[in-house]
Formats: sequence, C-alpha cells, structure tokens
Amino acid sequence: MKKFFIGLLVLLLVLVAVVLYNTFTFTSTQTKIAAIPAPPVTDSSLQHFTKALTYKTISYGNPALFDSSAFLGFRKFLEQTYPLVHQHMQREIIAGYSFLYTWKGKDESKKPIVIMAHQDVVPVEEATRNMWTFDPFSGTVKDGFVWGRGTTDDKINLVAQFETAEKLLSENFVPARTILFAFGHDEEIGGKGAIAIAKLLKVRGITAEMILDEGGIITKEKMPGLTKPVALVGTAEKGYLSLELTVEKPGGHSSMPEQETAIDILTKAIVKLRSEPFEPEFTEPMHGLMQSVGPDMPFLQKMAFANPWLFKKAIIGTYEQSGPGNAMIRTTLVPTIVQAGVKDNVVPTVATATINLRLLPGNNSEQVIERLKEIINDERVVFKKMATLAEASKVTPVKSFGFQQVEMAIKKSYPQTISSPFLVIGATDSRHFGEISTNIIKFSPMIDPIGFHGIDERVSIESYQTALWFYEQLIRDLP
Ligand SMILES: [Zn+2]
Repeated sequence: MKKFFIGLLVLLLVLVAVVLYNTFTFTSTQTKIAAIPAPPVTDSSLQHFTKALTYKTISYGNPALFDSSAFLGFRKFLEQTYPLVHQHMQREIIAGYSFLYTWKGKDESKKPIVIMAHQDVVPVEEATRNMWTFDPFSGTVKDGFVWGRGTTDDKINLVAQFETAEKLLSENFVPARTILFAFGHDEEIGGKGAIAIAKLLKVRGITAEMILDEGGIITKEKMPGLTKPVALVGTAEKGYLSLELTVEKPGGHSSMPEQETAIDILTKAIVKLRSEPFEPEFTEPMHGLMQSVGPDMPFLQKMAFANPWLFKKAIIGTYEQSGPGNAMIRTTLVPTIVQAGVKDNVVPTVATATINLRLLPGNNSEQVIERLKEIINDERVVFKKMATLAEASKVTPVKSFGFQQVEMAIKKSYPQTISSPFLVIGATDSRHFGEISTNIIKFSPMIDPIGFHGIDERVSIESYQTALWFYEQLIRDLP
C-alpha cells in the first residue's frame, strides 16, 4: 500500500514538473517587426469615408426592396472620388452591381492576389431607428468615432482600399504583381455578386496567390488578461447549413385530440437536438490561437494553453460559457423558425421548423445530418437541406504566403500587435473563392469595432487610420 502511494506521488511530481516545464518554456514565436507610425488621417480621406456611408446600399431579405439607384449613386461616387483608380485600372461590372478591378503589376508571370470588400450593408430595423444616437446614414464623426450603418461592415475596408490605391497611383506606384479588387454587392444575402466574380476568374483560369477579405479584427478588449493587442487573422470560416424539418400527421378537431400530434413530434425532435450538443473540438485555428496568445497570458491561462492535453476540459468549460466562445469550439445548432397551426381549435396537419447550424472545419454537412437523424430517431421527421448551404472552409496554413504578408502588414501598421490564426464564425464573400485560392485570409484591420449589424454601429478614427496604413504596407511590400 505504501509503495502504491509513493508511486502515485512520484507520478504526480513528474506531471507537475512536465506542466511547469511546458509553461516556462512556452515563449512567443511571433516575428519581430517594428511598427512604422501611421500618418494622421487627412480631412479629405475622412470625408470620403463619411460620404460613402450616406449611400443606402442596403441588402434586404426581400429582393423587391432592392434600390438600384443607391448602388448606381455609390458607383458614381467611387468614379468621381477615385479618378486615378478609374483611369489606371480596368473595371468590370459583374452581376449588375458588383465590380472587379484589375491593377496590373510589374511581373505578370506571378500569380495575382485578390483583395475583397462588399458594398452592401444590412438594413436598419424600423423599430430601432430612433434608438440610434445619430442618423445611421448621416456619416457622423463624433468623439473619435465614425458612426453609421456599414462603418464596420464593410465600408471601412472598401474605402480604405480605394484610398490606398488612389494614393499609390498618385505616386506612380506599380505593384510587384497584379492585384484584383473584388467588390460584391449582396454579401449580406448570399453573395451572388461574389459567386459571379469567382466564376469569371475560374473561367479565365486565374488562381490567386492569396485572397484577403473581411473577417477577424484587432482587439484590445476581447482577450481578458492580455495587455497587448491581438490581430485575429481569420484562416478558416465555419460552414452554414439550414435544415427544414417537417412533420405531417392528420390533425382534426382540438376537442378530441389524438395521443400525439405533428406539433408534439416536432417539438420532441427539437428538444432532443438541443439537449445533445456537438462534441467540442480544438480546430487548427484554435490551436494556433493558444500558441500565439498563450505566452503573453497571465500565469494560469498560460499554463492551460501550454498544456492543452491536460487542461482541455477546463479550457472548453471556459469557452462554453459564452455564445461566441462556444461557437469557436463546436458546431452549433439552433432553431430559428417554427411554424404550425392556423386556428385555436384546429390541430394542424403540418408542423415545420428551420434549424440553423454553423459547422466547424472538418464537419461535413452530410455527416452532420446523419448524426441529427440518429439523435431524433423518428422517421416521421422529414429533413430538407436549404439552398443556402456552404460547407466549412479549408484552413489556410500559418506558413502560407497570405498569412505571412498580412501578418507583416499588421505588425508594421499597429504597434505591439500579436497576430493569431482565428476561426471566423460569420459568413463572408470569400467562401465562394475556394477554387481560386487555397490561401484565403479573412481579416479587417480595425480595432474593437462596435455594433456589427446593430444599433450605433461605429469604428474609431484610429481604426480607419490603421486600415489605411495596413493596406498601404500590404501593397507596397507585396513581393
Ligand atoms: Zn461583411
């Protein structure tokens, strides 16, 4: 018995020694590149940004509400504001309102890069309109912020890209390789514009060395315990799957109901699905995040991130507590629409529910559906896959050209920043470009933006300054 305890104690000491060794040797592998101070934002550059926000380039769920004049007005604004871009680059109008600009580089034997942003914004819900501090389409500058619908998503990127190109063209700069700018017009409702651009590039046999689109951000607030800013550089995007579940069972008068109705069967299925969440997993971007930020974390978090083999449960427990954290570590599922019944005394014959899932990289939609069918285990529940399906993206390696170019531009444009791989939760236009490049980076160079798709959407002027400086570094340094 005594031998057993001694053995146990020795094992425990070895374990502690390994954990501590891993923790103390867990040091930063970040490349050290010094930042170059960004010049102040000029008045004209800021005015261009605020003016861009006044165009109501809104993507509505209902296509009948589409306002072509807003998009045509925005097109004219771009032509007038950026004359050199329109003089030196070829612009193609695709799917009616999307644009593909070609900026020829010095060496046409090198593969081009694609830089993306979308023109459209989400609507402002009528019920929330008077909750805004400023008119959402006024482009107001106040308290160091630019306020308005589309500031963060995605006009900051679009305008900063145009501003940078116009500035560089005024210096007769020619990029080392060709740059294609792709500006979709309906990203918020599926991205038909981006799909058409990707198709055109494919037909032309173009593959890109890298693609850069919106995605992760720079944050000083979202990583508690960390004193340095972190650039969350999206290297993968979750998949999007909506399913319609239907149950049909003869209804009838509610005064003499059957043992089980269509509504009963459907709700039981939903409860089962919700009570059996997907297994948590550390994907490649999550491992990358732990590696990148871990060494600069306070001791306990550093120890956990240095030893994920031992602390996986604790890390998952922490992430699971919040919606965004949970979404990082598992495929999620939630019912979003439930429909049945027309009258209080009629038992309906049909009940339907829409379930929205966001798939982790590696979780394929067919396998996921099989799993859900097993959980429900009731053939009366019929599944239909909706057309909006997008499988999870592949993961862009940290060692890739794209990641390294973006990382260098981040470090030059915003001091002290740790760059980290990141899994993008929402959907972006670049998901349609999987056949154009295996090197897709999803990153928006702004610092802790506020109000994505919500009330009082705004970005700091510092963010705009950083975005301008980031694109300039990226384009100048392009090999
Ligand atoms: Zn967006």
